[in-house]
Amino acid sequence: DAAINRIAAGEVLERPASAVKELVENSIDAGAARIEIDIADGGKTLIRVTDDGCGIAPDDLPMALSRHATSKIDGSDLLNITSFGFRGEALPSLGAVGRLTITSRAAGEEAAMISVAGGSAAPVRPAALSGGTVITLRDMFYATPARLKFLRTDRAESQAIGDVVKRLAMAEPFVTFILRDTSNGDQRTTFRADAETGDLFDALHGRLRTILGRDFADNALRLDTQREGFHLTGYAALPTYSRGAAVAQFLFVNGRPVRDKMLLGALRAAYMDVLSRDRHPVAALFVDCDPTLVDVNVHPAKSEVRFRDPGTVRGLIVSGLRHALAEAGH
Ligand code: ADP
Ligand code: MG
Repeated sequence: DAAINRIAAGEVLERPASAVKELVENSIDAGAARIEIDIADGGKTLIRVTDDGCGIAPDDLPMALSRHATSKIDGSDLLNITSFGFRGEALPSLGAVGRLTITSRAAGEEAAMISVAGGSAAPVRPAALSGGTVITLRDMFYATPARLKFLRTDRAESQAIGDVVKRLAMAEPFVTFILRDTSNGDQRTTFRADAETGDLFDALHGRLRTILGRDFADNALRLDTQREGFHLTGYAALPTYSRGAAVAQFLFVNGRPVRDKMLLGALRAAYMDVLSRDRHPVAALFVDCDPTLVDVNVHPAKSEVRFRDPGTVRGLIVSGLRHALAEAGH
Protein backbone atom coordinates (compact mmCIF):
# COMPACT_ATOMS: atom_id res chain seq x y z
CA ASP A 1 0.00 0.00 0.00
CA ALA A 2 2.88 2.34 0.80
CA ALA A 3 4.33 1.47 -2.62
CA ILE A 4 1.06 2.23 -4.40
CA ASN A 5 0.90 5.54 -2.57
CA ARG A 6 4.43 6.37 -3.69
CA ILE A 7 3.73 5.54 -7.33
CA ALA A 8 0.52 7.56 -7.38
CA ALA A 9 2.31 10.39 -5.59
CA GLY A 10 4.77 10.66 -8.47
CA GLU A 11 1.97 11.62 -10.84
CA VAL A 12 0.80 14.53 -8.72
CA LEU A 13 4.04 15.58 -7.07
CA GLU A 14 6.92 16.09 -9.42
CA ARG A 15 8.71 18.75 -7.41
CA PRO A 16 8.30 21.06 -4.39
CA ALA A 17 6.23 23.49 -6.45
CA SER A 18 3.63 20.77 -7.07
CA ALA A 19 3.36 20.19 -3.31
CA VAL A 20 2.92 23.93 -2.73
CA LYS A 21 0.23 24.03 -5.41
CA GLU A 22 -1.76 21.21 -3.81
CA LEU A 23 -1.48 22.69 -0.32
CA VAL A 24 -2.39 26.24 -1.31
CA GLU A 25 -5.33 24.97 -3.38
CA ASN A 26 -6.56 23.12 -0.30
CA SER A 27 -6.32 26.36 1.70
CA ILE A 28 -8.34 28.19 -0.95
CA ASP A 29 -10.94 25.40 -0.98
CA ALA A 30 -11.09 25.76 2.82
CA GLY A 31 -12.19 29.37 2.38
CA ALA A 32 -8.98 30.92 3.73
CA ALA A 33 -8.63 34.71 3.66
CA ARG A 34 -4.92 34.56 4.40
CA ILE A 35 -2.41 31.97 3.25
CA GLU A 36 1.22 31.98 4.35
CA ILE A 37 3.79 29.78 2.70
CA ASP A 38 7.22 29.13 4.19
CA ILE A 39 9.84 27.23 2.29
CA ALA A 40 13.48 26.37 2.88
CA ASP A 41 16.13 25.21 0.42
CA GLY A 42 13.84 25.49 -2.58
CA GLY A 43 11.13 23.60 -0.69
CA LYS A 44 13.29 20.50 -0.54
CA THR A 45 13.73 20.52 3.25
CA LEU A 46 10.64 22.49 4.26
CA ILE A 47 7.25 23.51 2.92
CA ARG A 48 4.79 24.91 5.41
CA VAL A 49 1.38 26.31 4.48
CA THR A 50 -0.60 28.13 7.16
CA ASP A 51 -4.18 29.22 6.57
CA ASP A 52 -7.17 30.63 8.42
CA GLY A 53 -9.69 28.43 6.61
CA CYS A 54 -12.39 26.14 7.97
CA GLY A 55 -9.98 23.66 9.55
CA ILE A 56 -10.34 19.90 9.96
CA ALA A 57 -12.04 18.29 12.95
CA PRO A 58 -9.86 15.85 14.96
CA ASP A 59 -12.02 12.88 13.93
CA ASP A 60 -11.57 13.78 10.26
CA LEU A 61 -7.77 14.03 10.31
CA PRO A 62 -7.10 10.31 9.56
CA MET A 63 -9.68 10.53 6.75
CA ALA A 64 -7.92 13.49 5.14
CA LEU A 65 -4.86 11.24 4.77
CA SER A 66 -6.59 8.30 3.19
CA ARG A 67 -6.45 7.86 -0.55
CA HIS A 68 -9.42 9.08 -2.56
CA ALA A 69 -11.04 10.58 0.51
CA THR A 70 -12.29 14.02 -0.36
CA SER A 71 -14.83 16.11 1.46
CA LYS A 72 -15.49 18.12 -1.70
CA ILE A 73 -17.53 16.02 -4.11
CA ASP A 74 -19.55 12.87 -3.74
CA GLY A 75 -18.17 11.00 -6.74
CA SER A 76 -21.34 11.27 -8.80
CA ASP A 77 -20.45 14.84 -9.61
CA LEU A 78 -17.15 14.53 -11.49
CA LEU A 79 -18.53 16.61 -14.36
CA ASN A 80 -19.45 19.52 -12.14
CA ILE A 81 -16.29 20.53 -10.35
CA THR A 82 -16.01 23.92 -8.72
CA SER A 83 -13.43 23.32 -5.98
CA PHE A 84 -9.71 23.03 -6.72
CA GLY A 85 -9.52 19.61 -5.13
CA PHE A 86 -11.64 16.62 -5.97
CA ARG A 87 -9.35 13.62 -6.21
CA GLY A 88 -8.48 13.21 -2.54
CA GLU A 89 -4.92 12.39 -3.56
CA ALA A 90 -2.75 15.25 -2.43
CA LEU A 91 -2.44 14.65 1.30
CA PRO A 92 -1.86 10.88 1.09
CA SER A 93 0.68 11.50 -1.67
CA LEU A 94 2.48 14.14 0.41
CA GLY A 95 2.54 11.68 3.31
CA ALA A 96 4.15 9.13 1.02
CA VAL A 97 6.97 11.34 -0.23
CA GLY A 98 8.00 13.25 2.89
CA ARG A 99 7.45 13.82 6.58
CA LEU A 100 4.01 15.37 6.79
CA THR A 101 2.36 16.98 9.79
CA ILE A 102 -1.15 18.43 9.77
CA THR A 103 -2.25 20.63 12.66
CA SER A 104 -5.75 21.99 12.46
CA ARG A 105 -8.66 23.42 14.34
CA ALA A 106 -12.21 23.57 13.05
CA ALA A 107 -14.84 25.86 14.57
CA GLY A 108 -16.21 24.42 17.81
CA GLU A 109 -13.51 21.72 17.95
CA GLU A 110 -10.25 21.25 19.80
CA ALA A 111 -7.00 21.64 17.89
CA ALA A 112 -5.37 18.37 16.89
CA MET A 113 -2.50 17.08 14.83
CA ILE A 114 -1.49 14.02 12.87
CA SER A 115 1.89 13.06 11.44
CA VAL A 116 2.77 10.66 8.69
CA ALA A 117 6.12 9.55 7.36
CA GLY A 118 6.83 6.93 4.73
CA GLY A 119 3.09 6.46 4.30
CA SER A 120 2.32 5.36 7.87
CA ALA A 121 0.39 7.70 10.14
CA ALA A 122 0.76 8.18 13.89
CA PRO A 123 -2.41 8.51 16.00
CA VAL A 124 -4.15 11.89 16.24
CA ARG A 125 -2.82 13.98 19.14
CA PRO A 126 -4.01 17.17 20.84
CA ALA A 127 -2.29 20.34 19.66
CA ALA A 128 -2.27 24.08 20.21
CA LEU A 129 -3.71 26.25 17.42
CA SER A 130 -6.29 29.03 17.55
CA GLY A 131 -7.86 28.21 14.19
CA GLY A 132 -7.26 27.18 10.59
CA THR A 133 -4.70 24.69 9.39
CA VAL A 134 -0.93 24.37 9.33
CA ILE A 135 0.52 21.70 7.06
CA THR A 136 4.24 21.03 7.13
CA LEU A 137 6.09 18.85 4.65
CA ARG A 138 9.72 18.21 5.50
CA ASP A 139 12.36 16.46 3.44
CA MET A 140 10.36 15.81 0.30
CA PHE A 141 11.61 12.71 -1.57
CA TYR A 142 14.00 11.80 1.29
CA ALA A 143 13.02 8.15 0.85
CA THR A 144 13.41 8.22 -2.93
CA PRO A 145 16.90 9.54 -3.72
CA ALA A 146 16.28 8.90 -7.42
CA ARG A 147 13.56 11.57 -7.46
CA LEU A 148 15.57 13.89 -5.28
CA LYS A 149 18.35 13.75 -7.82
CA PHE A 150 16.05 15.06 -10.54
CA LEU A 151 15.21 18.25 -8.68
CA ARG A 152 16.88 21.41 -9.89
CA THR A 153 18.87 23.92 -7.85
CA ASP A 154 17.28 25.46 -4.75
CA ARG A 155 17.05 28.69 -6.66
CA ALA A 156 15.22 27.11 -9.59
CA GLU A 157 12.84 25.23 -7.31
CA SER A 158 12.14 28.42 -5.30
CA GLN A 159 11.36 30.22 -8.52
CA ALA A 160 8.94 27.49 -9.59
CA ILE A 161 7.22 27.80 -6.21
CA GLY A 162 6.99 31.58 -6.62
CA ASP A 163 5.42 31.06 -10.02
CA VAL A 164 2.78 28.68 -8.62
CA VAL A 165 1.95 31.06 -5.76
CA LYS A 166 1.65 34.05 -8.11
CA ARG A 167 -0.70 32.23 -10.45
CA LEU A 168 -2.94 31.18 -7.57
CA ALA A 169 -2.76 34.72 -6.17
CA MET A 170 -4.05 36.04 -9.52
CA ALA A 171 -6.89 33.55 -9.39
CA GLU A 172 -7.85 34.67 -5.85
CA PRO A 173 -7.39 38.45 -5.56
CA PHE A 174 -9.49 38.69 -2.38
CA VAL A 175 -7.08 36.43 -0.49
CA THR A 176 -3.79 37.54 1.13
CA PHE A 177 -0.73 35.52 0.07
CA ILE A 178 2.66 35.67 1.76
CA LEU A 179 5.65 33.62 0.61
CA ARG A 180 8.75 33.44 2.78
CA ASP A 181 11.92 31.75 1.69
CA THR A 182 14.71 30.62 3.98
CA SER A 183 18.01 29.81 2.34
CA ASN A 184 21.36 29.58 4.09
CA GLY A 185 19.52 30.35 7.34
CA ASP A 186 18.39 33.71 5.99
CA GLN A 187 14.61 34.34 5.88
CA ARG A 188 13.13 36.73 3.32
CA THR A 189 9.60 37.55 2.23
CA THR A 190 9.86 36.91 -1.49
CA PHE A 191 6.24 37.61 -2.38
CA ARG A 192 3.39 39.38 -0.69
CA ALA A 193 -0.03 40.29 -2.02
CA ASP A 194 -2.56 41.73 0.41
CA ALA A 195 -6.24 41.01 -0.10
CA GLU A 196 -7.79 43.32 -2.68
CA THR A 197 -11.17 44.96 -2.25
CA GLY A 198 -13.85 46.31 -4.57
CA ASP A 199 -15.50 44.44 -7.41
CA LEU A 200 -13.79 41.57 -9.18
CA PHE A 201 -12.30 43.78 -11.92
CA ASP A 202 -10.89 46.28 -9.42
CA ALA A 203 -9.52 43.47 -7.31
CA LEU A 204 -7.96 41.70 -10.27
CA HIS A 205 -6.45 44.92 -11.57
CA GLY A 206 -4.92 45.64 -8.16
CA ARG A 207 -3.60 42.11 -7.87
CA LEU A 208 -2.06 42.25 -11.35
CA ARG A 209 -0.42 45.55 -10.45
CA THR A 210 1.14 43.85 -7.42
CA ILE A 211 2.35 40.88 -9.42
CA LEU A 212 3.14 42.26 -12.87
CA GLY A 213 3.91 45.83 -11.89
CA ARG A 214 2.53 49.29 -12.46
CA ASP A 215 3.61 49.41 -16.11
CA PHE A 216 1.42 46.44 -16.86
CA ALA A 217 -1.51 47.84 -14.89
CA ASP A 218 -1.26 51.20 -16.66
CA ASN A 219 -1.19 49.52 -20.08
CA ALA A 220 -3.83 46.87 -19.46
CA LEU A 221 -7.00 46.59 -21.50
CA ARG A 222 -10.00 45.24 -19.65
CA LEU A 223 -11.72 42.25 -21.25
CA ASP A 224 -15.30 41.26 -20.65
CA THR A 225 -17.02 39.41 -23.45
CA GLN A 226 -19.00 36.25 -23.98
CA ARG A 227 -20.06 33.78 -26.61
CA GLU A 228 -22.10 30.58 -26.53
CA GLY A 229 -21.76 29.90 -22.83
CA PHE A 230 -18.11 30.96 -22.52
CA HIS A 231 -17.16 34.15 -20.69
CA LEU A 232 -13.79 35.84 -21.22
CA THR A 233 -12.57 38.34 -18.63
CA GLY A 234 -9.20 39.65 -17.51
CA TYR A 235 -6.59 42.13 -18.63
CA ALA A 236 -4.29 42.16 -21.63
CA ALA A 237 -1.50 44.67 -22.19
CA LEU A 238 -1.16 47.02 -25.13
CA PRO A 239 1.32 45.78 -27.74
CA THR A 240 3.72 48.52 -26.64
CA TYR A 241 3.96 46.71 -23.30
CA SER A 242 5.17 43.33 -24.57
CA ARG A 243 8.02 41.07 -23.51
CA GLY A 244 10.95 39.47 -25.26
CA ALA A 245 9.91 36.05 -23.94
CA ALA A 246 6.61 34.27 -23.37
CA VAL A 247 6.87 34.48 -19.58
CA ALA A 248 3.91 36.65 -18.67
CA GLN A 249 0.90 34.86 -20.08
CA PHE A 250 -1.46 33.70 -17.39
CA LEU A 251 -4.46 31.58 -18.24
CA PHE A 252 -7.29 30.45 -16.01
CA VAL A 253 -10.24 28.21 -16.70
CA ASN A 254 -13.07 28.34 -14.20
CA GLY A 255 -10.70 30.03 -11.76
CA ARG A 256 -8.00 27.39 -12.09
CA PRO A 257 -4.52 28.25 -13.44
CA VAL A 258 -3.89 26.17 -16.56
CA ARG A 259 -1.22 25.71 -19.19
CA ASP A 260 -2.97 25.10 -22.41
CA LYS A 261 -1.54 25.25 -25.94
CA MET A 262 -4.84 26.11 -27.56
CA LEU A 263 -5.44 29.10 -25.26
CA LEU A 264 -1.85 30.32 -25.65
CA GLY A 265 -2.15 29.97 -29.42
CA ALA A 266 -5.33 32.04 -29.41
CA LEU A 267 -3.63 34.76 -27.37
CA ARG A 268 -0.70 34.83 -29.78
CA ALA A 269 -2.97 34.85 -32.81
CA ALA A 270 -4.89 37.85 -31.49
CA TYR A 271 -1.68 39.93 -31.36
CA MET A 272 -0.21 38.56 -34.58
CA ASP A 273 -0.82 41.71 -36.62
CA VAL A 274 0.27 44.17 -33.93
CA LEU A 275 3.42 42.53 -32.51
CA SER A 276 6.62 41.52 -34.24
CA ARG A 277 7.54 37.83 -34.10
CA ASP A 278 10.12 38.25 -31.35
CA ARG A 279 7.72 40.02 -28.98
CA HIS A 280 5.18 38.31 -26.72
CA PRO A 281 1.92 39.67 -25.33
CA VAL A 282 1.41 40.03 -21.58
CA ALA A 283 -2.02 39.00 -20.35
CA ALA A 284 -4.07 37.36 -17.65
CA LEU A 285 -7.10 35.74 -19.25
CA PHE A 286 -9.95 34.08 -17.43
CA VAL A 287 -12.30 31.77 -19.31
CA ASP A 288 -15.37 30.74 -17.38
CA CYS A 289 -18.05 28.34 -18.46
CA ASP A 290 -20.43 25.77 -17.19
CA PRO A 291 -18.22 23.04 -15.64
CA THR A 292 -19.79 20.47 -17.95
CA LEU A 293 -18.29 22.24 -21.01
CA VAL A 294 -14.71 21.58 -19.92
CA ASP A 295 -12.87 18.59 -18.50
CA VAL A 296 -10.30 19.54 -15.85
CA ASN A 297 -9.68 15.92 -14.94
CA VAL A 298 -7.27 15.23 -17.81
CA HIS A 299 -4.08 15.11 -15.77
CA PRO A 300 -3.54 14.40 -12.05
CA ALA A 301 -1.99 17.83 -11.54
CA LYS A 302 -5.13 19.33 -13.08
CA SER A 303 -3.20 21.91 -15.09
CA GLU A 304 -4.47 20.72 -18.45
CA VAL A 305 -8.00 21.12 -19.69
CA ARG A 306 -10.08 19.82 -22.55
CA PHE A 307 -12.90 21.95 -23.90
CA ARG A 308 -15.85 20.29 -25.49
CA ASP A 309 -15.84 23.04 -28.11
CA PRO A 310 -12.29 24.44 -28.43
CA GLY A 311 -13.15 26.36 -31.61
CA THR A 312 -15.65 28.57 -29.81
CA VAL A 313 -13.18 29.34 -27.03
CA ARG A 314 -10.43 30.17 -29.49
CA GLY A 315 -12.76 32.43 -31.44
CA LEU A 316 -13.89 34.19 -28.29
CA ILE A 317 -10.31 34.95 -27.25
CA VAL A 318 -9.10 36.06 -30.67
CA SER A 319 -12.10 38.29 -31.37
CA GLY A 320 -12.36 39.59 -27.78
CA LEU A 321 -8.71 40.64 -27.75
CA ARG A 322 -8.73 42.06 -31.29
CA HIS A 323 -11.81 44.09 -30.47
CA ALA A 324 -10.20 45.51 -27.29
CA LEU A 325 -6.97 46.28 -29.18
CA ALA A 326 -8.88 47.96 -32.01
CA GLU A 327 -10.82 50.12 -29.57
CA ALA A 328 -7.52 51.21 -28.07
CA GLY A 329 -6.31 52.21 -31.53
CA HIS A 330 -4.28 49.13 -32.51
P1 ADP B 1 -8.91 17.00 -2.20
O1 ADP B 1 -8.40 18.41 -2.14
O2 ADP B 1 -8.90 16.45 -3.58
O3 ADP B 1 -10.24 16.83 -1.49
P2 ADP B 1 -6.63 16.37 -0.53
O4 ADP B 1 -5.87 15.10 -0.35
O5 ADP B 1 -5.90 17.54 -1.08
O6 ADP B 1 -7.89 16.03 -1.42
O7 ADP B 1 -7.27 16.77 0.86
C1 ADP B 1 -8.09 15.81 1.54
C2 ADP B 1 -9.12 16.47 2.41
O8 ADP B 1 -8.47 17.11 3.53
C3 ADP B 1 -9.91 17.60 1.74
O9 ADP B 1 -11.02 17.09 1.02
C4 ADP B 1 -10.31 18.47 2.94
O10 ADP B 1 -11.47 17.94 3.53
C5 ADP B 1 -9.16 18.29 3.91
N1 ADP B 1 -8.19 19.41 3.86
C6 ADP B 1 -6.98 19.42 3.27
N2 ADP B 1 -6.33 20.58 3.44
C7 ADP B 1 -7.17 21.36 4.17
C8 ADP B 1 -7.09 22.71 4.69
N3 ADP B 1 -6.01 23.49 4.47
N4 ADP B 1 -8.15 23.17 5.41
C9 ADP B 1 -9.24 22.39 5.62
N5 ADP B 1 -9.37 21.12 5.16
C10 ADP B 1 -8.35 20.61 4.45
MG1 MG C 1 -6.51 19.03 -2.53
